[in-house]
Amino acid sequence: MGEPCGAALAPAPQHEPAAPASLPLFPDPAQLDPALSAFLQQAGDQLCRWWADSSTRSPLPLLSVLPEAAPGPTGLDPIALLDDLQLVMDGAFNPVHPGSMAHLDPPPLTASVAADLICAGLNNNLLAEELSPSLSRLERSLCAWMAERLGLGDQAGGVAASGGSLSNLMALVVARHQRGLVGVPEALVFCSADAHVSIAKALAVMGLPATALRPVPVDGHGGLQVDDLAAQLDGAAAAGVPVLAVVATAGTTVRGAIDPLAAIAALCRQRQIWLHVDGAIGAVFGLSAAHAHLIDGLSNADSLTVNPQKLLGITKTSSLLLLRQPDALAACFATGLPYMEPSWADAHGGECGLQGTRPAEVLKLWLGLRQLGLSGIAQLLDGALQRRSQLQALLAGLPLEHCSGPLHLLAFTPEGLAPAQAEQWSLQTRHHLLERQLMLSRPLYQGRHHLKAVLGNPHTGAAQLEAVAEVVAASVHASVPLR
Ligand SMILES: *Cc1c(COP(=O)(O)O)cnc(C)c1O
Repeated sequence: MGEPCGAALAPAPQHEPAAPASLPLFPDPAQLDPALSAFLQQAGDQLCRWWADSSTRSPLPLLSVLPEAAPGPTGLDPIALLDDLQLVMDGAFNPVHPGSMAHLDPPPLTASVAADLICAGLNNNLLAEELSPSLSRLERSLCAWMAERLGLGDQAGGVAASGGSLSNLMALVVARHQRGLVGVPEALVFCSADAHVSIAKALAVMGLPATALRPVPVDGHGGLQVDDLAAQLDGAAAAGVPVLAVVATAGTTVRGAIDPLAAIAALCRQRQIWLHVDGAIGAVFGLSAAHAHLIDGLSNADSLTVNPQKLLGITKTSSLLLLRQPDALAACFATGLPYMEPSWADAHGGECGLQGTRPAEVLKLWLGLRQLGLSGIAQLLDGALQRRSQLQALLAGLPLEHCSGPLHLLAFTPEGLAPAQAEQWSLQTRHHLLERQLMLSRPLYQGRHHLKAVLGNPHTGAAQLEAVAEVVAASVHASVPLR
């Protein structure tokens, strides 16, 4: 069906042994090495060419030929290295293609790419301040700025994490610690039925039984039903069962729904329950004054996950865990790092979270945000919302059930199909879309397969949206006899 059919292995390339003394293995500490500059330049040019031919290739390459995985008996020269890289690049998913709208994976922000290169070259370590003096401070300052901007208060701050799953896990570990529930297997976590799978994973890592996760049904807009949550919390209180946290989602993964954050926060406040908001998709809307109303109530969170790697295009991974009281991080995770100099500011990066050695992911976030400016952020958000409205309007006349929210995600499936028919429809339609270099995803939602468009790619224009509508219209008409 036009899906990649696995990787083929290229015949072992017959490279000559490395040409002597061309590319140095490590940077020269005493002089500029022209061979090294040329190599990095060529790698950069190769990447720029890959971006520049993006629209001639499919978002999803059908076959990839890989170079040999194992190192050869001797090292390769720079030309062979770049050739090897090219083979992997040829088989890569292509987020820059205008038809790429399947997932929460937009094109990379260009300043963020440059910062990623510099980050690799600095090779600092956020484990400890002496291994990343300027970068540790930058991470703290940027987390404090973002937390305050999102309304968590002027004492707020946080820590970077390699992805939203890890941010969510750390948030729940901190909540458990703050609530004195370490070692209490009865403790419950409430979240909507549409909450991200990483919440269930987090509880598994925390050693809690699957029954510790209490899903709350969603309403017709995909938001958590507050009355149901209130009843379940009352039930837990009456039975004397402790609550570890409530997780509200600001931007669900299939439809971008926002839970009623203010109402959930009110329930949590009355009962003194930790409120974690998973804003991996939606929290960035709070950075723009013109869009913050979409996620009203976000500022009530005790802890908040933000994933700038999603809509803003910060290169992967980029996630922050922000807390109203960031001291709770070190209170939970600090071990004293006995082999390090004492911290001279707040706390070592490795004392504020689960990760030990980690790269300075803050650099690409910081530079990317500096490149955008607040106006650039607002424009990115606007563009994504406009494309969602345009696609919704183009599909409006068709017999489809739309699942959307206020954000830039739109899922749909033909009205009245049985689950097996909806699956068949989604497979066929995705295939027809891919034939036209349009990539949508195919989530199973509320028992039926949907097609989902995530409209965060700034290159997606009217031509692609109209083409999607055309293919979908043809497929819906073709699926009528199935009913
Ligand atoms: C993507 C996502 C996550 C997980 O983030 P990763 O960076 O993929 O680990 C968590 N919650 C929501 C709502 C998401 O969409």
